[in-house]
Order: sequence, then C-alpha cells, then structure tokens
Amino acid sequence: MKEMTCVVVGGGYAGIHAVKAMREKLAGRSVRMILLDKEPHHLRKVLLFKPAVSKEAEIALPLNRIFPKGVEFIQGTATTIQKDEKILLYQDQKGSSQAIHYDILVLAVGSVIRRAEPGQGGIALSSVEAAVSIREAWQANMRKAAQEQDPEERQRLLTVTVAGAGISGIETAADLAYAMREEAARLGMHPLAAKIYLINTENRLFPDGPAKLGRRLEQALNDYGVSVLHGQKALREQGGIVTLSGGSTLSTGLCIWSLGLLPNPLLRTIGVPISAQGQVIVDASYRVSGAPGVYSIGDCARIIDPTSGQADRMTCKEATAQAARLGSVVVADLDGTPSPAHKSFMEFFCIGLGPEQGIVWTRKWGLDIILTGKLGWKIRQYTWNLASMLH
Ligand SMILES: Cc1cc2nc3c(=O)[nH]c(=O)nc-3n(C[C@H](O)[C@H](O)[C@H](O)COP(=O)(O)OP(=O)(O)OC[C@H]3O[C@@H](n4cnc5c(N)ncnc54)[C@H](O)[C@@H]3O)c2cc1C
Repeated sequence: MKEMTCVVVGGGYAGIHAVKAMREKLAGRSVRMILLDKEPHHLRKVLLFKPAVSKEAEIALPLNRIFPKGVEFIQGTATTIQKDEKILLYQDQKGSSQAIHYDILVLAVGSVIRRAEPGQGGIALSSVEAAVSIREAWQANMRKAAQEQDPEERQRLLTVTVAGAGISGIETAADLAYAMREEAARLGMHPLAAKIYLINTENRLFPDGPAKLGRRLEQALNDYGVSVLHGQKALREQGGIVTLSGGSTLSTGLCIWSLGLLPNPLLRTIGVPISAQGQVIVDASYRVSGAPGVYSIGDCARIIDPTSGQADRMTCKEATAQAARLGSVVVADLDGTPSPAHKSFMEFFCIGLGPEQGIVWTRKWGLDIILTGKLGWKIRQYTWNLASMLH
C-alpha cells in the first residue's frame, strides 16, 4: 500500500487534537504523520494569565513530548500552500525555504492576540513575554508602594486596571487579585490595599450566559477586591492615568489590555480562500474549497453549523471538538463515504476565579446548571488539562 502523507500545520489545541484523531481513525493504514509548528512547543494559550501572576507557571509543552512516537515533528513556519501540486512551503529554523508534498493537509494556524494601538500605553496580555513583563511591573510597583509615604501615590501603585472583561480578563483579574493580596501581606501591607478595576464594555459580565451567572461572577470578583466597571471602554493609559470612554479617569500603577483574538494574518497570503473576517472558508466538513485534500479547523477557520447557521467562536473547546470530528471526515473522504457535518458545541463555559475557585455553566433541557467553588475549579482544571492532552 502506498504511504500517505498527512501534514498538520499548527500544534495548538486544534492541531494536536487533529493529529490524535487522525492517528486513531487512520490506524492500520500506511500514513506518515507530520506536525509542523513555528515553535518547538504547544502553548497552553488559555493559561496565558498564569505567568502574569506567578513565576512558577509553565504553560509551554514540548510538542515532541506530546507525541513521542509515530509523529514527525518539524519546527518551521508555513508560508504557502501550492494547492494544485499539493505542496506546502515552509521556512525552516535556518530561514531556508523547504517543501513537503502532502496527501492530506490540516491548516490549524490559529489566531493572534489583539494588541493595544501604539500610544495606548499599558501592556497587552499577548504572549508569554508580555505576561512576564506584566508580572515584573506589578511586583515592582508593590515593592515601591511598601516604601511610599504619600498615601495617594501608594494607592496608585497598588492599583491595576484590566481592560477587557471576557473570560481571559475575568480570570486575569481574579488570579491577580489573589496574588496581589498575598504579596501585599508578604511586604507588610494590608492585603485589602491591593485594588483591581476590570473594565467591561458590556452592561454585565458574561452576556453569553444568564444574568444570574454574571451576578455570581461579579460577586466572586468583588470578594477578591476587584471592582467591575460596566458599559465603559478603556481608551488609553498615560502617566499612570487610565482614561475611560465616559470621560472619567482611574489612577493606576499598571494597565493590562485583554482584547481578544484575531485570525492569524498569515492566512491572507498562504493561498487559500478567506472570509471578510480573515478566516479560512470551509464547507460543513472543514474542507477548503478549491484545495483538494486541504482542511482547516480551529481559530483560523470560519466554521458554520449547517443546521443553525451559527458560526463557531474562537474557543479552545470548539477547536478540539472540530478536531475530533475531522478524523472521521478524513476517513470518509478517503473511503468515498458520506462524511459527518459540523455541529455547534453545547453551551458550556468554565471560568477560573483564582486558586481553587471556579464557575461552570451549562444549559440543558432549557435549565441553567451552575457549579461553583472547588467543584467548579476542579472541572475548570480538568478542561484545561484535557485540551492540552494531559490526561
Ligand atoms: C488569554 C486567553 C484566554 C483564553 N481563554 C479561553 C477559555 O477560557 N476557553 C476557551 O475555550 N478558549 C479560550 N481562549 C481561546 C483559545 O485559546 C483559542 O480558541 C485556541 O487557542 C484555538 O486553538 P487553535 O489550535 O485553533 O489555535 P492556537 O492555539 O492559536 O494555535 C495555533 C498554532 O499554530 C502555530 N502557528 C502559527 N502560525 C504558524 C505558521 N505560519 N507555521 C507553523 N505554525 C504556525 C502556533 O505556533 C500555534 O502553535 C483564550 C485565549 C487567550 C489568548
């Protein structure tokens, strides 16, 4: 039997689960499985706020440790898909252009984190390096605060503003509040002196879920010393002052931007059709039109449920569910049998609220199910680990 080459581009959540699903579904066939990523590791992106809070946090997992056998890992940056010839071009670590012929190619190059505009001040939580800068900044401010005699300046140094109240902003604010309280006590200050503002453009937290979930989240944040300001947008931070869209200002030691995701800009030039949003256009079984053997999933693809017409969001849980289905799609296409179609993921959200606290919400049979406290945290941790194949 002729060996078939499957190339997965991107070792994020979508990519590693695509490799796993295809290995399972293609077992028994002669397959060369290649995983290509520009980095040597899988970044646990959903935990990006952890290194902003703690030095101990390690959120990069070496890709060759995730797949110690049966998968060839290549570190390189994909540049072009020559769809007629079924060739992927990439740049290797030395900057030389290389080519791989594929039979199946899965494009899973994900998203990039939106940054603040030049001149907006603050630090965007956009990479591990940025997270480390954030941690160093608030810790240095706290050390200065411990020596500061002027009460106003001291309070400014003990204040952090988190701009953007999506899940990432909420989790950042909660973990940071907990860590700042501990650090304040360690430096001989009152733990409640540490203050966090979370700026929310919406009128309540978590508008995707029921109002009572938003209230519970806000209560939990308030208990940690986080004040949520609704219906406002942070415009800029300059000289320790954050200006809000309503015209008011906040005196702050550090402004952290948590602004969401944008599709990978590489998609504009790689040679596949893209939507107005900049994502790869795929059919209901993740096939890229006009590119035989090419599929795309995860944050980089525009995936629509053919029944509801609903587009998937850029989330890790949606990416991993698409990857699991992709294995069956690829086998069906190879065998010429009907392939499964995409289906939206169930309504399910987990949010971490500092060490050992979390909230889980799901809706079943029209009922809202909310789990909180340690149980919520355990489920949150389980989903984080499952997504990075740590079970
Ligand atoms: C701070 C933060 C918190 C989040 N919290 C949650 C949450 O609580 N729940 C949730 O469901 N989602 C959350 N998300 C969203 C989630 O992280 C994404 O939906 C998820 O990462 C998508 O996975 P992916 O594999 O499609 O893309 P990515 O994780 O972006 O992975 C893409 C991979 O492609 C690689 N790559 C990129 N370009 C190239 C190239 N040219 N050549 C080779 N390789 C390339 C990258 O190195 C990376 O490994 C959060 C995101 C952030 C930033």
